[in-house]
Amino acid sequence: MFILAVTIIIIGIVFLVSGLAQAKKICAQTQHTGWRLLSLLIACFILGYSLVLGSLLIDKTVDAILFGLSMILFSGSIFVFMVTTFSLTTIQQLHMLAQEEKHNALHDPLTALPNRKHCIETVNFLVEDNIPFQLMLLDVVNFKQVNDGMGHFCGDQLLIQIGHRSRAHLSKGDFIARIGGDEFVVVMPNQSLDHALNIAHEINQSLKRPFSIDGFELTSSVIVGIGSYPKHGTSVDQIINAADVAMYWAKTNGNEVANFSSHMSQDARRKLQISRQIDQAIENNEFELFYQPIICLERDIVCSYEALMRWLDEDGKPITPSDFITIAEQSNKITSITEWMLDKVASDIEKLIKAGIHCPIHVNLSAKDLMSKNLENQLSRLAFLNKSFVNMVVLEITETTAINRLRSPATLLERLKQMGFRISLDDFGTGFSSLSLLRDLPVDQIKIDQSFVYQMQRNERNRSIVANSISLAHGLGYTVISEGVEHEEVVSILREYGCDYVQGYYYSPALPLERAINWTLSRDAEHYEQLAQHTVKKAAP
Ligand code: C2E
Ligand code: CA
Ligand code: CA
Repeated sequence: MFILAVTIIIIGIVFLVSGLAQAKKICAQTQHTGWRLLSLLIACFILGYSLVLGSLLIDKTVDAILFGLSMILFSGSIFVFMVTTFSLTTIQQLHMLAQEEKHNALHDPLTALPNRKHCIETVNFLVEDNIPFQLMLLDVVNFKQVNDGMGHFCGDQLLIQIGHRSRAHLSKGDFIARIGGDEFVVVMPNQSLDHALNIAHEINQSLKRPFSIDGFELTSSVIVGIGSYPKHGTSVDQIINAADVAMYWAKTNGNEVANFSSHMSQDARRKLQISRQIDQAIENNEFELFYQPIICLERDIVCSYEALMRWLDEDGKPITPSDFITIAEQSNKITSITEWMLDKVASDIEKLIKAGIHCPIHVNLSAKDLMSKNLENQLSRLAFLNKSFVNMVVLEITETTAINRLRSPATLLERLKQMGFRISLDDFGTGFSSLSLLRDLPVDQIKIDQSFVYQMQRNERNRSIVANSISLAHGLGYTVISEGVEHEEVVSILREYGCDYVQGYYYSPALPLERAINWTLSRDAEHYEQLAQHTVKKAAP
């Protein structure tokens, strides 16, 4: 009985000691005073047990009461051990869940990189501690095309791999986050602008190596905008905004990387201002349509015009279409501009016909117009109101990437063609899929881009491109306009190559309607006299 009682008490002390160790761990994790008191209590138990064990070892006798007491103490120690064990496991599980939740709240589930919230918190810490840093905003080029064209699975895989490759170029202490769809942010504390530029370059080089995704090989790249703290602002928002402005600037200027500079935000402000002015301009009738004559080379007469938008702002300063049309396309205001333009063209057609000129007008359409139902509705309405509208209008579409993205540009153009409209493929040769567009789209004509025609007399390569484009188009049964003709020599070369029509400053810039009419009637006086005589003869009894 003596040996049994001693053994039980020793085991009890062991249980209590491990219970105390677990209670200490719980104390460290919860910082709760209740668990501190419990630890103190367990320590007192251990002391009490040890005293009982000591007296047992000295007396060497055990009566029934003492044995009963040692059994109770033993059960108590098991109870303490079990309570501390279960509590520790539960607390650890809760702790893990909380950690997981915290991780999820601060990380992007797709790439497992820190998310926008985490990024803002990190940048906030740096700003609070006044630590200088470079912040790069990375925007994946043509991501939407991959996502739309190859499916979301491929898009997701590409984002994961881009995050992975980009992270591999960062130094210790740098931080990368995915802050939105295809936007990543890299924060580099205590680093110079040169370092950031190098990293941006390295990331782009590595993204240009092929990715293997779902059996496809594709490459990628990013446009990078850089903002620096404290140079470009004193808050997270200001720095991210600076990087955003720089990124947007790089994108519109065809650069891969740009560091923020104040002229960029003036640019951005101007764009915002123009975008706001567009609505007002439509309301106040500030837009004007000018007409640039297009000459038929064979007959040497004006045979059509291109309608080109002109806009003087409130202060009478001209805003070029290249400026405001791009902004209108980005802000979806282009459809309102096109609507205004088509109504104006319809009324100008009547004036042309009244002046005896039956030359069609080329109108420029944006890819966004082709995506909206409005265009087809408006064209049908105008065709219904004026029977000559269809024959008097040629639709110019540009081979931009946006046209490639339209789900079925061919079917819409097919319908427009069935209505009787002719279609001209503008800026031919500047997109990356001119040939496939030429094959797939139901066009009637190509307009060779002015970049090939300009200075053609001095550039053999341009001559070769133009000559081959003309024979290619003729082979497919299309006619050809060369735009941007500025020299007589160019006219002779184009004539030699068999180009059908020419347009450019050599003949005339775009003119207000009245002037375009007068210019045409005086330039082609002979032609119009003959026409008049012919009409008189026909009318004579
Ligand atoms: P685009 O359709 O390629 O129009 C030809 C541009 O070249 C016009 O510039 C015209 O003035 C210019 N140009 C004509 N002949 C010559 C020449 O001999 N040399 C040179 N260097 N340039 C010449 P503009 O009027 O500034 O228009 C620029 C662009 O804005 C147009 O390019 C077109 O894409 C767009 N645009 C103009 N009006 C409209 C419109 O009503 N709707 C839409 N969606 N876009 C328009
Ligand atoms: Ca055009
Ligand atoms: Ca053009």
